[in-house]
Amino acid sequence: MTFEENSADILHADTQTALDRAAASTHRHEALFSDRAFHIKQSAVRDVFDISIRPGLVSLAGGSPYLRSLPLADLGETVRRIVAEQGLESLQYGAGQGTEELRRQACEVMAAEGITDADPADIVITTGSQSAQDVAAKVFCNPGDVVLCEDPTYVGALNAFEAYEVELQPVPMDADGLVPEALEACIATLREQGKSIKMLYTIPSFNNPSGITLAAGRRQRIVDICKAANILILEDNPYGMLRFDGMPLTPLRAGNPDDVLYLGSFSKIFAPGVRVGWALVPRHLHRRFYLACEAVVLCPSPLSQMLVSAYLRDYDWMEHIRASRLLYAARCASMLAALTEHLPDGVSWTVPDGGFFVWLSLPEGLDTYPLLYEAIDAGVVFIPGAAFTPSDEPSNKLRLAFSAVPEEDITEGVRRLAPVLRRAVDA
Ligand code: PMP
Repeated sequence: MTFEENSADILHADTQTALDRAAASTHRHEALFSDRAFHIKQSAVRDVFDISIRPGLVSLAGGSPYLRSLPLADLGETVRRIVAEQGLESLQYGAGQGTEELRRQACEVMAAEGITDADPADIVITTGSQSAQDVAAKVFCNPGDVVLCEDPTYVGALNAFEAYEVELQPVPMDADGLVPEALEACIATLREQGKSIKMLYTIPSFNNPSGITLAAGRRQRIVDICKAANILILEDNPYGMLRFDGMPLTPLRAGNPDDVLYLGSFSKIFAPGVRVGWALVPRHLHRRFYLACEAVVLCPSPLSQMLVSAYLRDYDWMEHIRASRLLYAARCASMLAALTEHLPDGVSWTVPDGGFFVWLSLPEGLDTYPLLYEAIDAGVVFIPGAAFTPSDEPSNKLRLAFSAVPEEDITEGVRRLAPVLRRAVDA
């Protein structure tokens, strides 16, 4: 067995999901699936995530936050206290919209980023911002509707929208994020084709996967273009507070309360395992959005919400964010230095101001997916670029994450990746 077959086997056999097995089966129940079920794709990120926990591999794949600087023992005591002292509340069903305390605290978190007019009544607490993306797709999109997104964009959003048979239309970015003229042109072309464009899904700060940020000077322009075209903006901002240096950039939602549905998350600034995020919904859209959230989960987890509330109330959460920003900045700097030292001519990359990711571009015509097998054999894992676009076209890009790996491992991972990329560039 060659190395490549070996890695391909690891990739495919180990990660075979229920969806795969269903696709391979000829059981009579196959016919019972909805059309929608066949639009839910297996996530390349989850596949690679499963492989990357193998001993000896350096994973530059997963965008997990660093949790070790959290006061874990104290938080354990906090959970114990919540259950002991508020057990009937924390373990019972709760309000569908989320607790009032946490909605108020979410407003404080947003104020730290520049959204100063949020009202707790306009918030719905969600099960991570992932569930809010699903609900947004569900309440706004019919099959065949168009959602505009950045090129590239977050794989979880692609999966959420595609499940509702939405047509995702990537809009080009440059180093300053979405290009306003390209957005206008795209809207005009789609309208000429008679398409119904419902939303722009955007990650303006430290886009996953590219690390690119929408420049401050472009932000209102993007809102104005969408406003003029009656397109709702779905602003996904889990990384905004994690700017390495200086204040966070003001979100699109600030000053545009009627035109932007804003998604926040405690996953990157606290812990993803609590599965708590929030949606700040324009008032005129709030009721239907909230009813749809409730229909999915009945209520967000009271225990999780109480833990997040206690964390925000009793701990210096801003200090944790400050420490995280320093740590991610140092890791990013190590990655950029290693890329400069080891990667061959012909490979370029983004230089992020925050967040978790660097985006590499190989020469046109190369496909990074097959290189993943070689990389696994060399002891390093990345996510191929094709995962982050709605088309199934091969991609010459790849995503590296620096958030979850110590600096020395980042350097080692890039050193292992370098010969794989060099062979591809030289071939
Ligand atoms: N949006 C983006 C851009 C993300 O990167 C992620 C997580 N990787 C999410 C949403 C989902 O986050 P959550 O844990 O809040 O569901």
